[in-house]
Amino acid sequence: MTEKLKIAIVGGGIGGAALAVSLRKRGFDPHIYERAQAFGEIGAGVQMTPNAVKIIRALGLYDRLTKVAFQPKGSRGRHWKSGRENFLLPFDKGFIEYYGAPYLQIHRADLLDLFVRELPASSVTFGAELTDCTQDASGVTLTFADGRTKPADLVIGADGVRSVVRDRIFGCEEPRWTGHMCYRALVPVGEPMPYVEPYNSLWMGPNGHVVTYYVRGGTMVNIVAVQEAPQWVSEGWNVRASRDEMLATYQDWHADLKKLFSKVTDVYRWGLFDRNPMPSWDGGRVTLLGDAAHPMLPFLSQGAAMAIEDGYVLAEALQAAGSDIKAAIATYDALRRPRTSRVQLESRKRGETYHLPSAIAQMKRDLEYRIRSIVAPRTTGMRADWVYEYDGTQAVSAR
Ligand SMILES: Cc1cc2nc3c(=O)[nH]c(=O)nc-3n(C[C@H](O)[C@H](O)[C@H](O)COP(=O)(O)OP(=O)(O)OC[C@H]3O[C@@H](n4cnc5c(N)ncnc54)[C@H](O)[C@@H]3O)c2cc1C
Repeated sequence: MTEKLKIAIVGGGIGGAALAVSLRKRGFDPHIYERAQAFGEIGAGVQMTPNAVKIIRALGLYDRLTKVAFQPKGSRGRHWKSGRENFLLPFDKGFIEYYGAPYLQIHRADLLDLFVRELPASSVTFGAELTDCTQDASGVTLTFADGRTKPADLVIGADGVRSVVRDRIFGCEEPRWTGHMCYRALVPVGEPMPYVEPYNSLWMGPNGHVVTYYVRGGTMVNIVAVQEAPQWVSEGWNVRASRDEMLATYQDWHADLKKLFSKVTDVYRWGLFDRNPMPSWDGGRVTLLGDAAHPMLPFLSQGAAMAIEDGYVLAEALQAAGSDIKAAIATYDALRRPRTSRVQLESRKRGETYHLPSAIAQMKRDLEYRIRSIVAPRTTGMRADWVYEYDGTQAVSAR
């Protein structure tokens, strides 16, 4: 049964590739249709929180992951100007034991490569830009920009925030402008530097925050510098910026940050978009995964993690349902949509907490962090314990 099911994945980003690996581990033979001419990721880092690491380990990729990732000492919140610590969550032995996996930081290309290496070349078609997706009782037809069509029994749209699959099957508005942009840069430093601590550092300031962390064994620092920007236009989706612009924007911030920013060579300006949670992911023989299903602000560092969880759960649901597509999508929808919806909405709220404009409100927030770090240390700072505790490898069997 599993060999006969024709499964098409539209999009070969981290979500599509992770799904393909999850399906292959369960005996399915999915095919990826990717519009680019090769697999590729932007030059930036990504944080893999314990919930994502548990899935990667279950896929048998943990050893390779730890070889290319950087393991930070903890997550530390700081005052934007003085550098005063406002929370510290150590990623120590107790953290790893409690959540069942470490917290790791990795270059995006290394993460994508982890999955891609598991896929035979024959399981991917590049240069396949989907333009339409239709279905009837017997199956789905995918239409591509060059006029080709392909049939499938089951289609998973993993084609990102501007998903064509979502648009054609579920119908959707344009992504929502969140009122935030960020500068993204990767700075080669060769080795850990005194002005960048080996933590996941979150600098909270008025109307913005900055996250810095090491990837590739501490040889590079990833920077995500977020600003509220009410006037952003969506055409500026992925635009080159400059070091001077970045330094000018953060001119009043802490000296360590400015020192790091002065080393930036390539920097990009990204508008941040999301969507509201969907009422259903059940599109008959079609469903969605990753940013296509639940694009979110990156303020809980969960977009890719959710995509990786989605893929594992969908593959297991399909196997458990004996390839019954309707039953599998129902299980997938029931297990994944509530969790990802919560992460989408909570990510929005984090922006408000991290960007408090008034010094008094910041003091109140930081006092609350301190109290929580005494009474419930795991909930301090980002309050993400409910995100990390989840074990997607148990989701289907525990249902
Ligand atoms: C600043 C920032 C920081 C982030 N940090 C983190 C983090 O630390 N941790 C984390 O887990 N997440 C993070 N994220 C989120 C994460 O980057 C995304 O959620 C994740 O990359 C989404 O993967 P995806 O495969 O769903 O979509 P995408 O990466 O968008 O991949 C979609 C793929 O589909 C292809 N495609 C698109 N349209 C078509 C079409 N019509 N036909 C065929 N192919 C198509 C594209 O070429 C692409 O390869 C961050 C995001 C941002 C913006």
